Amino acid sequence: MKSDSKIPVSTYFGAMTFDHKAMRAKLPKEEFTALQDTIKAGKKITAEIAGVVAHGMKEWAMENGATHYTHWFQPMTGSTAEKHDAFLSIDRDGTPIERFSGEQLIQGEPDASSFPSGGMRTTFEARGYTAWDPSSPAFLMRGGKDLTLCIPTVFISYHGEALDAKTPLLRSMEAISNSAIRLLEVLGVTDVTRVKTVAGIEQEYFLIDKKFYSERPDLVMCGRTLLGALPPKGQQLEDHYFGSIPDRVLEFMQDVEHELYLLGIPAKTRHNEVAPHQFEIAPIFEEANIAVDHNLLVMEVMRKIADKKGFALLLAEKPFAGINGSGKHNNWSIATSTGINLLDPGDTPEKNLHFLIFLVAVLKAVLKRGDVLRMSIASMGNDHRLGANEAPPAVVTVFLGELLERVLDAIESGKVDLKTEKQVLNLGLSRVPVVNKDYTDRNRTSPFAFTGNKFEFRAVGSSQAASAPNMVLNTIMAEAVDDMSDAILAKINAGQERDAAILETLREQITATKLIRYQGDNYSEALQQAARERGLPNLKNTPQSLRVLLKQDVHEMFTKYGVLSEQEIDARLHIRLERYVKGLDIEARTLQLMLKTFVIPDVSEYQGSIGNSLSNLIAVADAIGLSEGSLKSQADHLKMIAENLSTLLDMSAELDEMIEKIDSFATEFEKADYCADTLLPFMSAIRTVSDKLEQVVDRSRWQLPTYSEMLFEH
Ligand code: ADP
Ligand code: MG
Repeated sequence: MKSDSKIPVSTYFGAMTFDHKAMRAKLPKEEFTALQDTIKAGKKITAEIAGVVAHGMKEWAMENGATHYTHWFQPMTGSTAEKHDAFLSIDRDGTPIERFSGEQLIQGEPDASSFPSGGMRTTFEARGYTAWDPSSPAFLMRGGKDLTLCIPTVFISYHGEALDAKTPLLRSMEAISNSAIRLLEVLGVTDVTRVKTVAGIEQEYFLIDKKFYSERPDLVMCGRTLLGALPPKGQQLEDHYFGSIPDRVLEFMQDVEHELYLLGIPAKTRHNEVAPHQFEIAPIFEEANIAVDHNLLVMEVMRKIADKKGFALLLAEKPFAGINGSGKHNNWSIATSTGINLLDPGDTPEKNLHFLIFLVAVLKAVLKRGDVLRMSIASMGNDHRLGANEAPPAVVTVFLGELLERVLDAIESGKVDLKTEKQVLNLGLSRVPVVNKDYTDRNRTSPFAFTGNKFEFRAVGSSQAASAPNMVLNTIMAEAVDDMSDAILAKINAGQERDAAILETLREQITATKLIRYQGDNYSEALQQAARERGLPNLKNTPQSLRVLLKQDVHEMFTKYGVLSEQEIDARLHIRLERYVKGLDIEARTLQLMLKTFVIPDVSEYQGSIGNSLSNLIAVADAIGLSEGSLKSQADHLKMIAENLSTLLDMSAELDEMIEKIDSFATEFEKADYCADTLLPFMSAIRTVSDKLEQVVDRSRWQLPTYSEMLFEH
């Protein structure tokens, strides 16, 4: 479908998805209703329905031009995978015919031995199953000349272990639903059948010209620059933020949005970000597993369209040192089947009380499991961002905003009389939604901020799939919600009235969770100090964060809620450590390549040229009346270059040894620690020398595109 601004988006929104409308058109009424019911109840679909749905889906896909289908899944590599099969098959009598059976729809068997399993599958049973997640609609993806029917699936082993990121997310959504329904019952709300987790995922990214990108091995191989001096302008002026969007980028955005609308992805806002060439796209929130799928598609669609438009899309968390990094703000809330957002302060005292109970449960979850939350977003790329320039710190605290702070303080200090408390809650909170709007922008430094009717987890990395952070959020919340239910029930069982039990628990838990609330500037030294005083974890890098997955009580939590088994936890730990070490190995090798084939030859050539001109000058100095002293600055300049070049050559030799050394360690943790504590700082030291040289070497001899070119030329 051609992009035409005269056609309202609503008329083609979701045209490439097998959504409600397409299903109604293609399925017999009985199967249509049965499928809708299964989706609503979050259940598995039966074989009989699957056959009919598969047929309808195939007809629809073929009418739209698809020849192939694929089970689209999220292996533990953090991206997506697909294996295409043609609808075409040959009947026994030799007739070619398009077929797509129920079995092929609900279960596929990709030869997946090359996907990481963290040791969960031995080679003889290397195949995993992919099974349709009917809650996420199938869609048609453009690629090459044709369209492919993509079926969002989970990916599991023969023995039912999750080999992907989607399965645990779905399980965590189930867990929080069960816990929240139980707490609501304790609170006296009995009409809720399901509690949904919803997420709105804001995506930040950089766009640079493809010609610069292809000339930088670090960007091509690692997605971030390993070298490069900061330009004089940088982002000091911050004139890019909310400024007008350059035309070429706007066209890119419009093409992306058009494609997203066809895929039923509700792209809502677009704007410039803080850094030059940095932008953001945000869709309207959806149920968490769909939001995560859609975010993966957003990244994929952007990558394809950027390429067509002559751009390179940079999703890395910190593509340019010293310049603002990119994140993925995960806006998260939970809502009942009766349509109530449990994190929305309501308009009645009753609703406000329920809101406060769930709010305090969030505080409890983050206080108890802040390290798990931190672990969920740990990655090589995000390590450069967390705690760096304009990014949330590695310490996780919660920002509530002034008014809520006051309300919680008042309840805690007992200034509020229990008998009249409900009345006070009413007065105090009826203004929350209005007031909080102002706060959303006021504390952009918090990694986990309450923004009126949702929490915004801002520490998620821009290139990461949002499945793990949402999975962890749901699980730690399920646990905290259960703790709240238990605490209230204990009081009721001890003979207290329900209302009194609820209010007293609220008061106790406000006190118990005080340490996690932080309203100040999270970029400041004061936060680091507060973290030390309060004993909050400050996990600086990926290997440190991944150690959280060794903790017994963390294992107990994940297994108790049926989100991850012992084996699934171990597999994830193993894969993530390995990815970290491999990633750093690649970065170090890329840096070495750049030193040897770009920086060192360029500097040598420049050194040669100024060396020559200086010796020529010395030869004629007497004749033209130059004293030795008047050549001193030129000699010093040459000396500085010669010294730094020698340093760089020595460092390059040492880097080779370091790369060799990685494999000498016995365990993955030792390798990862070595990479984090020794290799990475050494790479930064190399960069410092190289960047110093970049700033003095004749531009015509410097082959690598510079930061100025990449960030300021359009
Ligand atoms: P910001 O002020 O950070 O730019 P917005 O108010 O525009 O944020 O919302 C950011 C994201 O949060 C959007 O994706 C939006 O749809 C989503 N969002 C809004 N309400 C909720 C909610 N109740 N739960 C989860 N996400 C929400
Ligand atoms: Mg935001």
